[in-house]
Amino acid sequence: MALRQLILCLGDQLNRDAAVFDDFDKSTDAIWMAEVPEEATHVWSHKARITLFLSAMRHFADGQRGSGVTVHYRRLGEHEHTSLASALAADLKRLRPERVLVTHPGDYRVYRRLKATVRAAGLRLTVVRDRHFFDSPERFRVWARSRKQLRLENYYRAMRRHHGILMTGDEPVGGSWNFDADNRKSFGADGPGLLPQPLRFPPDTLTREVIADVERYFPQHPGRLDAFDWPVTPEQARDALEDFVSHRLPAFGPYQDALWRDEPWLYHSRLSAAMNLKLLAPRVVVDAAEWAWREGRAPLASVEGFIRQILGWREFVRGIYWLRMPEYLDGNALDAHADLPAFYWTGDTDMACLRQTLRQTLDYGYAHHIQRLMITGLYALLLGVEPRQVHQWYLAVYVDAVEWVEAPNTLGMSQFADGGVFASKPYCASGRYVQRMSNYCSDCRYDPGKRSGDDACPFTTLYWDFLQRHEGWLRDNPRTRMQVRNLERLDAGTREAVRVSATRHRRMVS
Ligand SMILES: Cc1cc2nc3c(=O)[nH]c(=O)nc-3n(C[C@H](O)[C@H](O)[C@H](O)COP(=O)(O)OP(=O)(O)OC[C@H]3O[C@@H](n4cnc5c(N)ncnc54)[C@H](O)[C@@H]3O)c2cc1C
Ligand code: SF4
Repeated sequence: MALRQLILCLGDQLNRDAAVFDDFDKSTDAIWMAEVPEEATHVWSHKARITLFLSAMRHFADGQRGSGVTVHYRRLGEHEHTSLASALAADLKRLRPERVLVTHPGDYRVYRRLKATVRAAGLRLTVVRDRHFFDSPERFRVWARSRKQLRLENYYRAMRRHHGILMTGDEPVGGSWNFDADNRKSFGADGPGLLPQPLRFPPDTLTREVIADVERYFPQHPGRLDAFDWPVTPEQARDALEDFVSHRLPAFGPYQDALWRDEPWLYHSRLSAAMNLKLLAPRVVVDAAEWAWREGRAPLASVEGFIRQILGWREFVRGIYWLRMPEYLDGNALDAHADLPAFYWTGDTDMACLRQTLRQTLDYGYAHHIQRLMITGLYALLLGVEPRQVHQWYLAVYVDAVEWVEAPNTLGMSQFADGGVFASKPYCASGRYVQRMSNYCSDCRYDPGKRSGDDACPFTTLYWDFLQRHEGWLRDNPRTRMQVRNLERLDAGTREAVRVSATRHRRMVS
């Protein structure tokens, strides 16, 4: 029988409720999926990231087959194709579908290639809206057109109103759009105490097979797999959500910016990868959090802070990505050209904060937001690393890394490479910030209070050097003017000593 519809299903589209399946008929239609080396090698992917994608894909395919759906699945090692385009081209020839459909891909590169491949086969690719998200690229574009500046706060309020989340009529519940005054705490000298440990999902037989394949086909890739415990099915993702809402959401708000040695998870949800692979819908996550507040199980400050990340930031960065691609990846507003230090791939550095964050990243494929923004991201910004190299590193090493969310966070928020499309100022700070928010510095050979000299904290040295290098335009920005005023208080000798120390440090890490 002729194949009526072939639905292309990518590794981050594992959702049978997607709109692309609305007209799916088991007797005439089929799903197409492929594991290809290129998706693990176009950036040098962490083993846990590859494992998560492949395991979730195989679980999804098995589930579909179990319910009688035909799945044309290309498994790693069982075919010769290295790229999605080449595997698809061969299968279109073989299967000869009448129509080819795909949910709007999350990666511009993949989107273009799939379109070109289907066109070359004499067919047209139907791209279906991704209703996983609250917003759409088209609606975001309309919103953006009416704005002089694209700022999260305006967008987030519009989203709250439009979707009626944490609202009483037209007003935010609790009388305020945000509760930052109650949040952003550090743990203080006593530390966090006993933390609730997240629910783990030890590898089942299928995941163990994937792990063996990853070790076999990608042995030189970064990262370890012995601690792999990410949810790989929708059921596990729901359990992870429940566990987070019951045990960590109540304290999420106050401690969302805090850092602590040997505590990778703190009160974070660990749900980004499950959402990005579409094992879990953001609506379900947001509803669960809102209900926890309505039932008195979590305070409003935590619930609002958490919902802001998903309804606000997550949707906002996606809007920016599709608004600005493909030129977004070329941004280098600060004219930064240094190479990413080699220790980003090993964690071998004497800077304690970076060592902690990098080793944890290699162990789990995870670092929480402030580690990504204010440790690895901040250091690369201050050092002046070429943004594209920073982008490629972030896209490689985190289990939740998909380009629509990674690129705006890295290039916009963290590296200011877009010159302020995304953030109103660069997130630049000295080692004093790290000292205030964590206990990393007490385990470090450097002194966060020192600007120059052998034991000066490299973050602090590079921060004052960064201010000097960018003094002109930072003075013109009302949000960084104060930082430049502090720089102006330094005498010429101090400034020179900073420059000398910064140059020495740069040489040492290059
Ligand atoms: C340089 C840099 C790169 C990043 N790369 C990615 C990436 O590749 N993939 C990714 O999902 N997130 C990325 N983020 C955002 C954020 O750091 C992660 O979503 C978060 O750390 C994931 O951990 P969690 O699920 O425990 O999050 P939580 O702290 O529990 O937050 C809850 C959820 O909110 C969402 N969220 C929070 N912050 C952001 C944000 N800034 N942008 C978008 N969504 C957000 C995530 O879905 C997350 O699961 C990046 C941030 C930075 C600064
Ligand atoms: S002293 Fe500087 S390098 Fe060391 S942990 Fe603190 S911020 Fe990091």
